[in-house]
Amino acid sequence: MAESSQNDIPKSNPAASGEYDKKCIFCKIVNKEMGTELLHCDEEISCFKDIRPAAPHHYLVVPNKHVGNCKSLTKEHVPLVKQMVELGKDMLEKNNITNLSDVRFGFHWPPFCSVTHLHLHVLAPVSQMGYMSRLIYKLNSYWFITADQLIEMLNSKEETN
Ligand code: AMP
Ligand code: ZN
Repeated sequence: MAESSQNDIPKSNPAASGEYDKKCIFCKIVNKEMGTELLHCDEEISCFKDIRPAAPHHYLVVPNKHVGNCKSLTKEHVPLVKQMVELGKDMLEKNNITNLSDVRFGFHWPPFCSVTHLHLHVLAPVSQMGYMSRLIYKLNSYWFITADQLIEMLNSKEETN
């Protein structure tokens, strides 16, 4: 996967393309207005550390363009979600997390998300997460959906034109 350092200019500038929400903190982060270190930035997606980590490794993977929360997605977004998951796995691998049975990839379901810009939580190791964090990122809850569940749900939706 193509990578760039924080100082490289993203090839597709969300502000320039008009797909930038000036009130959105994640649009600002991707556009390098916040001073947040981008651990990865390519044409489509970026990754940075969550400011309030719920696990020793807690990354957020976001599309560079302002895409709304997971409830607003359609089947056409499946490749994007898969790309986000792959980047999450790459980030963990780079940080020597190889036991993929002890990781969690997912999204808070509205209204339980605090930022509207689509973001994948990448958490590891789950076995080292505290009680509250496990609750906040709980499997099979009505507030958290895993990336696999989201992909399955989107695939079962009708195509949109
Ligand atoms: P959610 O509650 O699922 O919408 O997740 C939003 C996440 O964004 C939370 O885990 C926050 O800790 C994280 N967050 C909010 N502001 C920032 C920021 N400036 N930099 C990094 N992470 C942030
Ligand atoms: Zn945004």
